[in-house]
Amino acid sequence: MKEKHVAVVGAGTMGAGIGQVFAQSGYEVDLVDVDEKILARSKGRIEKSVNKLASKGAIDPTQVDDILGRIHPVPAIEKMSPVFLVVEAVPENFDLKKKIFTALDKTAPEGAVLATNTSSISITEIAAVTRRPEKVIGMHFMNPVPLMKLVELIRGIATSDEVFEKIDGLARELGKTPVEVQDYPGFISNRILMPMINEAIYALMEGVATAEAIDTVMKLGMNHPMGPLTLADFIGLDVCLDIMEVLYNGFSDPKYRPCPLLKKMVSAGYLGRKSGRGFFVYEG
Ligand code: NAD
Repeated sequence: MKEKHVAVVGAGTMGAGIGQVFAQSGYEVDLVDVDEKILARSKGRIEKSVNKLASKGAIDPTQVDDILGRIHPVPAIEKMSPVFLVVEAVPENFDLKKKIFTALDKTAPEGAVLATNTSSISITEIAAVTRRPEKVIGMHFMNPVPLMKLVELIRGIATSDEVFEKIDGLARELGKTPVEVQDYPGFISNRILMPMINEAIYALMEGVATAEAIDTVMKLGMNHPMGPLTLADFIGLDVCLDIMEVLYNGFSDPKYRPCPLLKKMVSAGYLGRKSGRGFFVYEG
């Protein structure tokens, strides 16, 4: 098991960013994805992002080649190096995460920590499919990973203090600010953010104000950098609905019921920026 070598499973939006921040901190990174095209695209995205940071003076330009050289595309979990930490960043689907953690438990060295970047799935339930629940932890990075300081560190019911402290120290080494959170639906970030977005959608549905007006109130009145409806479009309305359902079902509390307008928009395929239309319309 190598102490300066990690693996990131899933090389999409989050996985590429997570791999990049580890490489910037001197770690060798196995970037694992089943889709070869995504692996190639992620390498390109990381290269662009590292070069941009170097041009802004955030990274020493003489380090760019070394950073990029530390990223190793890997086509399958079974082909990973014997790393001391794996961060999983595959899509937010419990059956898929269970499959991945079962495979990681078989392949990763016995002492390796298995972290998940899940936004809302229970760490305790993911850990339960492994034979090492004390070494499973939530490591919830924010998007875009190279720029956002916060990492929520979520303790599953069995996560050991030793593992928590190790990952807390590692997050600090990456230049992030870790925050300790217990394993309850939505953790802290989405438990507070998503009901606010959902309430903004109720206000829109009830005709209290227009989408523009709702966002303006929150930007100018509360100093939020982005209005809640613009933010919902950025995150993806399907993702917002999934998380509201995790809160609603997880707490069995009607205060978290997803707004009918959110459900209607997702059914129509109005998913926000990624589909070109959400609460606002996006050209191109
Ligand atoms: P994404 O769809 O951009 O990337 C997921 C990647 O996983 C894809 O490249 C896919 O090919 C790959 N994948 C699928 N099955 C795989 C397998 N069996 N083995 C290896 N790779 C596999 O998703 P994302 O937005 O990066 O989200 C990943 C995780 O991060 C989710 O749990 C999500 O909830 C969480 N998250 C996302 C955001 C965000 O803003 N996008 C923020 C915080 C947390």
